[in-house]
Amino acid sequence: MSVTAIVGANWGDEGKGKITDYLAQNSDYVVRFQGGNNAGHTVINNYGKFALHLLPSGVFYNHTINILGPGVAVNLEVFLKELKNLKEKNVPNPTIYISDRAQVILPYNILFDELEEKRLGSESFGSTKRGIAPFYSDKYLKIGIQMNEIFNEERLRNRLKNTITQKNILLKYLYKHNEISTGDIIRFINKYKNQIGPYVADTTSMLNNAIKQNKKILLEGQLGALRDPDHGIYPYSTSSSPLAGFGCVGAGIPPYLITKIVAVTKAYSSCVGSGPFVTELFGQEASELRERGGDAGEYGAATGRPRRVGWFDCIATKYGLTVNGSNEVALTNLDVLGYLDKIKICKEYEINGKECNMFPVTQLLENAKPIYHEIKGWKEDISNIKEYKNLPEAAKNYIQTIEEIIEVPIKWISVGPKREQMIIL
Ligand code: GDP
Repeated sequence: MSVTAIVGANWGDEGKGKITDYLAQNSDYVVRFQGGNNAGHTVINNYGKFALHLLPSGVFYNHTINILGPGVAVNLEVFLKELKNLKEKNVPNPTIYISDRAQVILPYNILFDELEEKRLGSESFGSTKRGIAPFYSDKYLKIGIQMNEIFNEERLRNRLKNTITQKNILLKYLYKHNEISTGDIIRFINKYKNQIGPYVADTTSMLNNAIKQNKKILLEGQLGALRDPDHGIYPYSTSSSPLAGFGCVGAGIPPYLITKIVAVTKAYSSCVGSGPFVTELFGQEASELRERGGDAGEYGAATGRPRRVGWFDCIATKYGLTVNGSNEVALTNLDVLGYLDKIKICKEYEINGKECNMFPVTQLLENAKPIYHEIKGWKEDISNIKEYKNLPEAAKNYIQTIEEIIEVPIKWISVGPKREQMIIL
């Protein structure tokens, strides 16, 4: 019995949705264990193209049970909307459950996210304004609302009372905004609770029973290692841990069962939002890579924001693999680089005049300059290649050079956004 975690090695948007969709073919359960609808996983399959923000990427299969674990931030409206969108595109009704211990994103979480980003102006964190940071702050302040509580109005009213008082002081005096009432929040919850009810379950028991029955479980991480609040580029990080290690906590399974950790990384770098990004490209070079990247250019699946793009960063990726404890790598978007005569790989940083091969803390990273190694491009369309041996020599050289530096075997090479565009080693 083993559990596989699929996680991001970088800043997010590495192509985890595609890899999860691929691996879900042979899995019984697909579990989201953290985050909310603040990122999107793009999946392209026989039903069409989907940007899943909250639903696990296993929802396209009849045989998979999909779970939002206790660590997930649940936006009730988005959950129902994404299910409706699947139905509209003729995807058979997926089996999906939300943990009764997962917590609900409340309208004031979103409001505070928006108001705070506005207050910070040019010093804002580049939040997706989905309420995620205020949600997790409330969770750890112990004023969050669990899914099981939305069905008990009296308890809800009591739990919300003191919270609303505190929120209104901030709204009135800090943000100069209209106050909110407990009634507003109850009405919001009542609007969705009957529709949500059938999906709420004790997913921890469900998963632990599945483990006893030797079922195959996939944990699907959101964002990437460099956004981890402890190990990432704090404060330009997210508010829950996207690392494989947190998978056991956020899903509710034994840590020793996570034996396969597939870290996904793009064949170049991309990043949405603020924070240091050492190999970033600008001007024409950047726009060309951005337009050619992904399935339809590098634009955020959650917000549509143009992604920052750059050369492959071995230092950042190696660090992402280390903190995830990854033992396999999936390299995506290799096809995208086929237009380049020469491709750069960042092997080291120079920080304050010294060479550095470790990923440093944020304030040092802000002064880091990339040291590049240049490799010949393959100048060829590789998107239909199915076997490693058929890849051009220059592409093999690119993969091998990266593999030697990151010291984790590349087992999956994705050469296009579609499910079947995959080379397995
Ligand atoms: P995730 O959040 O990690 O799932 O990543 P996103 O879905 O936000 O971004 C990955 C982008 O790359 C999406 O546009 C995918 O459709 C696309 N993609 C994934 N793998 C490949 C690939 O091998 N080649 C190309 N061209 N696009 C890919």
